[in-house]
Amino acid sequence: MDTFDVIIIGSGPGGYVAAIRCAQLGLKTVIIERYSTLGGTCLNVGCIPSKAMLDSSEHYYNASHTFKTHGIELSNLKVNLEQLVSRKNDVVKQTVSGIDFLMKKNKITVFNGHGTFTGPKTVEVKKNDGSTIQIEGRNVIIATGSKPSSVPGVTINKKRIITSTEALNLKEVPKELVVIGGGVIGMEMGSVYARLGAKVSVIEFTDTICGGFDKSLSKELQKVLTKLGFTFYMQHKVTETTEKGKSVTVKATSLSDGKEIELKGDYVLVATGRKPYTDSLGLDKAGIVLDERNRIPVNEQCETVIPGVYAIGDVIRGAMLAHKAEDEGTFVAEIIAGQKPHINYLLIPNVVYTWPEVASVGYTEEQLKADNRAYKSGSFPFKASGRARASMDTEGFVKVLADKTTDEILGVHMIGPRAADMIAEAVVAMEFRASAEDIGRISHAHPTFTESLKEAALGATDNRAIHI
Ligand SMILES: Cc1cc2nc3c(=O)[nH]c(=O)nc-3n(C[C@H](O)[C@H](O)[C@H](O)COP(=O)(O)OP(=O)(O)OC[C@H]3O[C@@H](n4cnc5c(N)ncnc54)[C@H](O)[C@@H]3O)c2cc1C
Repeated sequence: MDTFDVIIIGSGPGGYVAAIRCAQLGLKTVIIERYSTLGGTCLNVGCIPSKAMLDSSEHYYNASHTFKTHGIELSNLKVNLEQLVSRKNDVVKQTVSGIDFLMKKNKITVFNGHGTFTGPKTVEVKKNDGSTIQIEGRNVIIATGSKPSSVPGVTINKKRIITSTEALNLKEVPKELVVIGGGVIGMEMGSVYARLGAKVSVIEFTDTICGGFDKSLSKELQKVLTKLGFTFYMQHKVTETTEKGKSVTVKATSLSDGKEIELKGDYVLVATGRKPYTDSLGLDKAGIVLDERNRIPVNEQCETVIPGVYAIGDVIRGAMLAHKAEDEGTFVAEIIAGQKPHINYLLIPNVVYTWPEVASVGYTEEQLKADNRAYKSGSFPFKASGRARASMDTEGFVKVLADKTTDEILGVHMIGPRAADMIAEAVVAMEFRASAEDIGRISHAHPTFTESLKEAALGATDNRAIHI
């Protein structure tokens, strides 16, 4: 039986980053992936393809809605969905082949097949070519990710009642798309098809979309998506979906007055979250029992109950985000190599790639209130930014929350142009425990969207914003 220092099961951003870091640290590493391409959900059917389609649909939307104001006139504008999807597929292909290259460069053994524990440190790989091998690891990292989940009354059939995976490969733009679930994936994929002309309706159980974000961001996002054409049915519980021919009927009940609504769509996107993926992993053979939410329980070192067996990414507690999985991949590799790494979970940023984008780091205002923490707040709207006016991206704002006494930044929340990139400045500032005044005193190039963060920080410092 071949023995490795580290066996990694799953090649998403958690697994492949762990593999590279292990190899950099001189550990003999093998990675097992059941699909034919590496990169997991993120590269194949998640972050990368969804962003490719968001960008394409945004170009179309701008061409049909804002170009004229910019003085650019087009005629015969139309969507070629086949080409749009084919470009997306090319982006995915280039990205996953980049991971193949990195595995070779770092001399990591790759087995394409399904990995199953046969003991705490032994794994059987049923390879995609039909053969089977047994391997042994001094350490094992479980990085098997997640898969879409559903709600009672909704059976995903991948034809017209679909998940994000099928939504990335539709052959036609839906005329009417019903989205079940007001979370990030629903808002992003809903935006893609709304921009391409679909009438999008969202049914959400709670009273906020993108729950978990600072409420001010969720409210503003709902406002801009409503302008884009979304219809929201908040605080409604879906009870039934029925498909007949090319149409699906969705029934839902209002939580406030018990009234039933009935929506018809040619497609229904089920975006009610994702669940940890541990099918046929043989966890019982390893001696690992799942928690009440079907996650693999781990301690602060991401180690399971079995010493030397770790789990990272979507399959454990915490946010289901690619960069969280990556950070844990590096973290565990360094622990195995005897180092003392650290992850600051509070400072893992959270982003929604709608337009405008939403991005957030640190405590929300609701959390600070619940903790009775004395804080101050500064806010700056993009409509007061010269850069935003120049590009016609004036929706949204930046909000900075700082400790009332020390001025230390506690949270930064933004909805606006390029917020996904801009949040990095806030993460760096908070990682170095900067005060709001520190950001306010740092030179920000003019004109840039980032000046809005400086202005919001000045606002939080002492109501010192200049341009408002
Ligand atoms: C539409 C969509 C958009 C998203 N957009 C973003 C975004 O913009 N930003 C962001 O941060 N996150 C985003 N996410 C979430 C992100 O994709 C996940 O958080 C991330 O992929 C988790 O990484 P992971 O390594 O834990 O698992 P995964 O990426 O799910 O990878 C797990 C891999 O393990 C393999 N596997 C499972 N079991 C076995 C086994 N027994 N043997 C061998 N292989 C196995 C699976 O085939 C899979 O390839 C998005 C998700 C979706 C669905």
